[in-house]
Amino acid sequence: MSFTVAIIGRPNVGKSTLFNRLISERRSIVDDLSGVTRDRQYGLCEWNGKTFNIIDTGGFVPDSKEFFESAIRRQVTIALEEAHAIVFMVDVTNGILHTDQEVARTLKKSKKPMFVTVNKVDNHSRLLDASEFYSLGFDVFYPISSINGSGTGELLDKITELIPLTDAEQEDITDAQNIPKMAIIGQPNVGKSSLLNALIGTERMIVSDIAGTTRDAVHTHYNLFKKDLILIDTAGIRKKNKDKNDLEFYSIIRAIKAIDEADVCLLMIDALNGITAQDVNLFSLIARKGKGIVLLVNKWDLVKKETNTAKVYEEQLKKKLAPFNDIPILFVSVLDKTRIFKALEMALTVYEHKTKRISTNQLNEILLPELDKYPAPSVRGHSIKIKYLTQVTAQVPAFAFFTNYPDDIKKPYRNFIENQLRLHFNFTGVPIRIFFKKK
Ligand code: GDP
Ligand code: GDP
Repeated sequence: MSFTVAIIGRPNVGKSTLFNRLISERRSIVDDLSGVTRDRQYGLCEWNGKTFNIIDTGGFVPDSKEFFESAIRRQVTIALEEAHAIVFMVDVTNGILHTDQEVARTLKKSKKPMFVTVNKVDNHSRLLDASEFYSLGFDVFYPISSINGSGTGELLDKITELIPLTDAEQEDITDAQNIPKMAIIGQPNVGKSSLLNALIGTERMIVSDIAGTTRDAVHTHYNLFKKDLILIDTAGIRKKNKDKNDLEFYSIIRAIKAIDEADVCLLMIDALNGITAQDVNLFSLIARKGKGIVLLVNKWDLVKKETNTAKVYEEQLKKKLAPFNDIPILFVSVLDKTRIFKALEMALTVYEHKTKRISTNQLNEILLPELDKYPAPSVRGHSIKIKYLTQVTAQVPAFAFFTNYPDDIKKPYRNFIENQLRLHFNFTGVPIRIFFKKK
């Protein structure tokens, strides 16, 4: 299940400060997986063994005074439709403003769980000021300081109470269902619905322009060369919606849900645009969530080709995706139906990579001699020895390396180990995890 929380509220109340605080725990891990440090509007928050998606809606509202009233109204509507819970943020330093009241009225009509947070309560005297917010008409509110973190623990406790399963329990369930699930992910207009239609062979993607009629991801059972798989369809994003911010918001929130449900994501980019910052963000989100990836460069029919075009294109893509660039890249044209079945086949191969288990024997026989040839540099005069390794149960291939000094193994050596694993055992398209343990 994918639990999604949206933070809404006026500009400058502190939404992105809270957002950054909530995702910061994972920052270091995140940055390991991708070079992206650009501001994100969405991320993962982990608390008490449970993980949820968090969206900073402020990132989708234009930075202009004139527009923000109506933009916030739409942002609230979308958040109410798409998120599982809402954090409605107000600011103790400027009290209740008209927009706050308006948002409060809309929220009260919804049955979604909500958390009214009064932000910037940095000290005790501001806590007294916060009582003013009872007049918004909610029974409970959470005084917090996004800057110093006070109150955010209580807020997170309450939010995570709504999430039924811990990550570990979730993994057990996922393991039990063994039909591979694939999702087509990408920016608006890259060709996702066209691909789905081409694969399924009928025009079954109905896009409604009636406000409020959204549908959740539809699962299509698919059979390719006698292999079962499920295609997760995230369509239903209102194409008629003219507002670019809204469209982006919808597509991101849908993409996040689909990624959560999928085993392997077919990440589609537009050949003419090349890979954009948003694409890279989606890529790193997929990797962080531990899902398999096949990169599809669509609309390849529009690219003028010379001898090495695909090769050069691929090399440039891999450079942008480093360090995690051991992924299949396919140049497709949904329009011409070029390599679209190949894309699914590749997704199935990635699924195999993701779920395979390598025996401890095999791992040690092949990898230990390689690691002995290039041992980790010694630290403070002691040499580091990796004694053995084993694959551990996890959502992605994960390997525990037992060593005398687990804390002294640095990133370059970790990367070397990852490359060796990839070289000998083929995990193309799959993020892998490596742990060092004391032995
Ligand atoms: P957003 O527009 O709602 O995303 O607001 P920002 O997160 O950009 O914050 C707006 C301003 O409020 C920034 O100058 C923040 O440093 C400040 N701010 C955010 N949270 C707090 C807080 O808890 N206490 C104080 N004193 N300032 C805060
Ligand atoms: P979505 O928003 O990602 O679902 O994108 P659509 O499937 O609606 O496609 C957006 C536009 O790109 C449509 O006009 C498609 O006809 C066009 N399109 C999709 N795939 C291709 C392709 O391989 N080549 C070309 N030239 N156009 C394509």
